[in-house]
Amino acid sequence: MPRAYNFSAGPAMLPETVLEQAKTELLDWRGAGMSVMEMSHRGKEFVSIAEQAEADLRELLMIPKDYKVLFLQGGATSQFAMIPMNLLRGKMKADYLNTGIWSEKAIAEAKHYCQVNVVATGKDKKFTTVPERNSWNCDIDAAYFHYTPNETINGVEIHAVPDISVPIVADMSSTILSRPIDVSKFGLIYAGAQKNIGPAGLTIVIVREDLLGNTILSTPTMFDYKAQVEAESMLNTPPTYAWYIAGLVFKWVKAQGGLIAMGERNQRKAEKLYQAIDNSSFYANPVDPTYRSWMNVPFTLANPDLEKTFLSEAKDAGLVTLAGHRSVGGMRASIYNAMPEQGVAALVDFMKDFEKRKA
Ligand SMILES: *Cc1c(COP(=O)(O)O)cnc(C)c1O
Repeated sequence: MPRAYNFSAGPAMLPETVLEQAKTELLDWRGAGMSVMEMSHRGKEFVSIAEQAEADLRELLMIPKDYKVLFLQGGATSQFAMIPMNLLRGKMKADYLNTGIWSEKAIAEAKHYCQVNVVATGKDKKFTTVPERNSWNCDIDAAYFHYTPNETINGVEIHAVPDISVPIVADMSSTILSRPIDVSKFGLIYAGAQKNIGPAGLTIVIVREDLLGNTILSTPTMFDYKAQVEAESMLNTPPTYAWYIAGLVFKWVKAQGGLIAMGERNQRKAEKLYQAIDNSSFYANPVDPTYRSWMNVPFTLANPDLEKTFLSEAKDAGLVTLAGHRSVGGMRASIYNAMPEQGVAALVDFMKDFEKRKA
């Protein structure tokens, strides 16, 4: 059975060469006589794996020296609480841009800790576009500005970093490493690993050092970024195997030519798929072309009764996990870094053939 092209939104496809290397090293990591899963996180072997992964991530994203990198647990969802706990810094208010379902979750959690000012919302347009920057009602007294550069469920992506005067916090779960970014424009970047980095169970946080050290009083030690920085993300046992696989993925991204090459490839993949959708009257994508995601492409069929047939025939063709999120329905193709261009080409060919037979 050949490996399927897996269009899952997350956990998502991993590069095959990464899985092959993990397989080779599964029983005995480079002569250690044990699997990475069996190693002490404080032993010199695992510490070398951890340090190399951080060094490679720093190189890929060109992370400035005054930013700390954390390898945490709890998913992006835990960050929804950790961010206000750590970044309010004595202030009472935070700005949030609402561009979709993940923004809404971040907003709901932040409301437990502070006054949330929603600067603008795309909800009245069903999250198919982003309100114009000049309509945002930003508060200069906000402790930070939070946004979701790529809304994984709605397929909406903000392609340029907005111009904001307070520290910018970005949930990059489904877009990190998809293209180059200027880390220095952000106060904090966070991402669950299971889309573009590695296995579930690992969460990356990149945070500017000067924002740390002023948590709200009740912050659990595990949720205190500064305590995690001081313990080098090892306050307790970290997700060692996920950290190791992430390290292999970082090496793979470097071997692909880094983030410039990755970005070019991702743009080509997305354009090919959107073009196929736009050139047909059988498929449709509702998102404003300015804000279409390079990573998650939702689409509908003119006749929704054909959805089940579409999914089952796609599966038989080796194209799996194309059902849309349960909250929005339709289809969604997630085409993260590890989805090869051939996978997108195979999907486009299948879509054209299906349309020919069923339209
Ligand atoms: C997947 C996702 C999350 C949730 O991540 P978990 O690691 O499951 O908590 C949050 N935000 C965005 C943008 C996502 O894509």
